[in-house]
Amino acid sequence: MRDTRLHLEAPLGPGASLDLEPEAAHYLRAVLRARAGRTLRVFNAGSGEWRARLVRLDRHRATLAVETQLRPPAAEPGPTLLFALLKKPRLEWLLEKAVELGAARLQPVRCRHAVVEAARPDRLRQRLIEAAEQCERLSLPELLPETGLLEAVHAASEPGVILADEAGGAALAPTLRRYPEAALLVGPEGGFATDERTALRALTFVRPVSLGATILRAETASLMLLACHRALTSAADRPCRAEA
Ligand code: SAH
Repeated sequence: MRDTRLHLEAPLGPGASLDLEPEAAHYLRAVLRARAGRTLRVFNAGSGEWRARLVRLDRHRATLAVETQLRPPAAEPGPTLLFALLKKPRLEWLLEKAVELGAARLQPVRCRHAVVEAARPDRLRQRLIEAAEQCERLSLPELLPETGLLEAVHAASEPGVILADEAGGAALAPTLRRYPEAALLVGPEGGFATDERTALRALTFVRPVSLGATILRAETASLMLLACHRALTSAADRPCRAEA
């Protein structure tokens, strides 16, 4: 079984002693039935990944002693995903998959035909953390505040934007190969409004693509863009796990 991996905000270094948040302490005690003395891995983008030992675990507190570094911090470059907010279960699923597939930035955009539902940022962030712990990432994607569609698209004008357009567009693979740095934009469950599509397609740095002959749900379209981006741009032999 894989050992436990926890994302911690605090800087990690040899000899650091860290008290865990009550939820993490509860998880170790009640779910993993961990005992003092057990080792686990802790990580964050700034410090890399470290082996740590539980030196105290009781009803009141969990304390870790950081021991040795397993992986140095390393850049984890990945695409920006621009997407419309979805209803909670689909949104949480999408965020999990976006972490696994290496998105570096997540930019929710406001669209006319989107489900308007206040998503709790702390809960969304928790999904990102859990996914990063599971998939061996060191970094969490940056989750940006929801922004107007065109404002967000203009902010990505420098790398350009690949727009998944259900009304049709160029083939995906050659577009991704040609613009590997471009942000990826997927519309809401209700699709783009006509004027939104017209405004987007008028921008020279927006490249519309088709994802095929069926209409995909918004989260499937996001997943397809991220998976294809990874398949076409990632190095072949990157190991993903440190030796424990
Ligand atoms: N309700 C709309 C579909 C919305 S699908 C309709 O019936 O037309 C949600 C989003 O997924 C779309 O805005 C688009 O960004 C993306 N998408 C879904 N299927 C696609 C396809 N075949 N090609 C390109 N983009 C697609």
